[in-house]
Amino acid sequence: MSDKPKLARRTYAENAARAVLREMQITGLYVDPVEIAQRKGIVVQGKPAEVDGVSGILVKAGDNFGIMYATNIPSEGFQRFSIAHEIGHYCIGGHVDALLSAGMHVSRAGFNSNNPFEQEADFFAAALLMPEAAFRRAIDDHPVGLVGIETLHKECGTSLTACGIRYAGLTRNAVAVISTVGQSVDWCFMSGALKAAEGLKWLWKGAPVPGGTLTEAFNANPDNVRTGCNDAGVGNLRDWFDTRRSYSCTEEVVGLGQYGRTLTILTCNALNIDDMEADEEDDDDALVESWMPRFRR
Ligand SMILES: [Zn+2]
Repeated sequence: MSDKPKLARRTYAENAARAVLREMQITGLYVDPVEIAQRKGIVVQGKPAEVDGVSGILVKAGDNFGIMYATNIPSEGFQRFSIAHEIGHYCIGGHVDALLSAGMHVSRAGFNSNNPFEQEADFFAAALLMPEAAFRRAIDDHPVGLVGIETLHKECGTSLTACGIRYAGLTRNAVAVISTVGQSVDWCFMSGALKAAEGLKWLWKGAPVPGGTLTEAFNANPDNVRTGCNDAGVGNLRDWFDTRRSYSCTEEVVGLGQYGRTLTILTCNALNIDDMEADEEDDDDALVESWMPRFRR
């Protein structure tokens, strides 16, 4: 199977990660991708990227595989994600045949995000480094919202953004995780519970940051973003999602520093449910992909 899929097969990629965790009997929250690669007989080596934007390389020589990952971005989360991404290409069915005919595959963080193979490797990496069962349990051990996401991001060794996306996908609480640049929305992930808000409309890439919100005021001062400030206040889901009625929520914002982005976390206690009946993630695959999430950041 070497045909390029039209859309990234998220569940397929996540199941491949789950299979690796099961095979290696990894049940904890912190996962070491280097150890996983080594146990699969893959040599892992860090080196400064010679070409800008290269995050990792998967090499095949005969039956031997090697991973090189870029060390010029000195972020543990970025490097771990880059290694896990290459393990994804090794493990997801069809990738080796499709990508390694020339003996080498080069991954570029952010550059190839329209490519389904790259997106699948990113979904694999997120599922590998933030294992679903342990992550769900850990969500319940911490306060809902930014504090919980910050704690989990440290415990998992993944970026705050990657952790926020995973959090929105797995929490039982009503949470939206939104990335903005200046006064423009980059992407938004909503938990299943939050989507139950009456008349909720999707927040699309490129939509303006709603006027009067804490995020709008926060982003009006670029220093807040650059220096990694954070703030919290009372917000309303109606401002963001044009819901039929008012839903008071907590709005937390944190500047992501050098990336020029702000992460906004909305939590709405009125919509929390104890048990989600079904995992609604799959329904959103197409939309999720259209946002081109940047898990590494
Ligand atoms: Zn790749």
